Amino acid sequence: MNKGYEVIIIGGGPAGLTAGLYTSRARLNSLLIEKGLVGGQIVNAERVDNYPGFPEGISGFELGQLMHQQATKYGLKTIIAEATGIELGEEQKEIKTTEGNFIAKAVIIASGSERRKLGIPGEEKFTGKGVSYCATCDAAFFREVPVAVVGGGDAAITEALHLAKFASKVIVIHRRDQLRASRIIQEKAFAEPKIQFLLDSIVDEIEGEDVVKRIKLRQMKTGEKSALNVAGIFISIGLKPNTDYLKGILPLDPAGHIITNDKMETEIPGIFAAGDIRQNSARQAITAAGDGATAAIYAQKFLA
Ligand code: NAP
Repeated sequence: MNKGYEVIIIGGGPAGLTAGLYTSRARLNSLLIEKGLVGGQIVNAERVDNYPGFPEGISGFELGQLMHQQATKYGLKTIIAEATGIELGEEQKEIKTTEGNFIAKAVIIASGSERRKLGIPGEEKFTGKGVSYCATCDAAFFREVPVAVVGGGDAAITEALHLAKFASKVIVIHRRDQLRASRIIQEKAFAEPKIQFLLDSIVDEIEGEDVVKRIKLRQMKTGEKSALNVAGIFISIGLKPNTDYLKGILPLDPAGHIITNDKMETEIPGIFAAGDIRQNSARQAITAAGDGATAAIYAQKFLA
């Protein structure tokens, strides 16, 4: 495979795929490096209702596939590999990956984020055995049994709504007395009789034998401890930027996000960042796509 490119894009979510569409249409020799499925976080969304142009909504998986198809049509190349580092040269950058190293004149970092973990006893042990980070992927395994969802954001409440189609009962456990999710999503959840809310509560431990049997809870205001029998626990407490491989190469904010200006430029000439990985990103598919287009336009100007 060709090892030298004008632009290398790391990450195949809406930001990376849009950047690839724009750089390919600008006739720049472009490579996209993606470690899993193209589409990024939206692949986990059963339905995306707020991406303009799809009035009936579209599955996240399909949206990712369509974006990739469109960019590939204009010449974007894709490899499945994980980026592990970047070495900065005078004129070019070397991207280290699990499938070998690649050279680029400009790099657009769009490697997004991954689900945050609770870090409590039992979480790792029972992952895949009742602990899940993706209701769209795993909800069907929990038919007519009670499940818990941890978190109060858009993702947690959307997951609870999806789970309510399968489970006998969905208990949303949130650490504060108010949800963070947008009103429209909250209203849907309040109208779903299978969904119950345990507010001001956190999960201290996940217990079971071969699979999850119960979770131990703590009431934040009173300190009162209790246990809840559930067959599954879906953890949806936000996202962590995938920037571990960039530590020491690019300045990151305390949460690990990349700092850019409004042209998506980082401090290093020729390195751009787009999407969820950026500090202060609105973390929506459409804003990530917008970032990707902006990064590609300024990468093109940088190369010219
Ligand atoms: P989020 O908005 O950051 O919400 C994370 C939730 O997890 C918050 O309720 C937070 O509690 C809670 N949390 C964080 N750490 C915790 C811990 N250690 N223990 C217990 N609870 C904890 O993340 P998200 O819901 O994954 O959404 C990420 C982005 O994607 C957001 O911008 C969201 O709008 C977007 N999104 C949009 C849609 C949509 O349909 N529009 C769907 C999914 C996601 P606090 O509230 O107390 O901080």
